[in-house]
Amino acid sequence: MNWLNNVIRPRIRSIVGEQKDVPDNLWSKCPKCDGMLFHKELKASRNVCYHCNYHMALSVKDRLHLLFDEGAYTKIDLPKVPHDPLKFKDQKKYVDRLKASQTKTNEKDALVIGKGTIGGQNTVIAAFNFAFMGGSMGTAVGEGIVRAAQEAVDANSALIVIPSSGGARMQEGMLSLMQMPRTIIAVDMVKEQGLPYIVLLTNPTTGGVSASFAMVGDIHIAEPGATIGFAGRRVIEETVRETLPEDFQTAEYLLEHGMVDMVVPRDELHEKIGTVLNLLMNTSAKGDNGKGKNSKSSKNANAKGNKAGGAKTSGTKAKIKTAKDVSKKPANEGKAKEQPKSAKAAQ
Ligand SMILES: [Zn+2]
Repeated sequence: MNWLNNVIRPRIRSIVGEQKDVPDNLWSKCPKCDGMLFHKELKASRNVCYHCNYHMALSVKDRLHLLFDEGAYTKIDLPKVPHDPLKFKDQKKYVDRLKASQTKTNEKDALVIGKGTIGGQNTVIAAFNFAFMGGSMGTAVGEGIVRAAQEAVDANSALIVIPSSGGARMQEGMLSLMQMPRTIIAVDMVKEQGLPYIVLLTNPTTGGVSASFAMVGDIHIAEPGATIGFAGRRVIEETVRETLPEDFQTAEYLLEHGMVDMVVPRDELHEKIGTVLNLLMNTSAKGDNGKGKNSKSSKNANAKGNKAGGAKTSGTKAKIKTAKDVSKKPANEGKAKEQPKSAKAAQ
């Protein structure tokens, strides 16, 4: 008889109680600082490392929940497109890859479209799902962006696209490249209506996505540390035969070089985008959200910006500066101009 195992162990157990197995999925590790992160706390900080502020990937569902007012939105289905037009096969058949991703993500393709309000302003968001084949842009994604743009125009809403993508979907060959001009035309539709088109650049925004709709926004907002670029770092270094700076192709580097208008931490995104939308859309009295008079005046305001042609970007930048300056109480300022008496009374 093994005295240690059969007598001592049960007795100790009876004193300290049966030790439950600790589930090993309670913790994860920050890829940047190697800090241990408790899942519950990580979820509360919206997948931002609470040791070093590294912004990890956020699921599309959580992203939309974070951005829309009260997390409420209506999902818009992706239009149907022909699957696997080229009958492509590498190690696996493309149709099989598609099916696997569809099962994994419970989505039809790498884009999710939602409609709701941000800061009280009607908004359509088209967000990429990196978990679906690296957020690659094929026919379905291109068609989805056209659909989102159409929806924004029909409902007089702002359009926000959130890329998180490796670029074109190789399995669709030429057809995936065709989505680059298509998405440009789609977002132009929104701009022509004088509605704001905002791009929220998340990690990573690369390849054909960054070479099309993602870089033509009225305003470019980026998450801290996001990789944003076209070709990879090594390819560029080999081509230009120069060593590139450490922070090359990061959100902060692009901000310094004028490609991005602002870098906003995840927990401030909802408020910041709300402020920007209110400045761009809410040119009349408060409470008149994107309807009637308001939409017309916002059209005029934006049309002026568009007519300025080359100066368009600087025009939007001037607006952003204003956004920072008045970010605290934009609505009240508008009121103050129209109704000086009541504003004074309120003060
Ligand atoms: Zn960290």
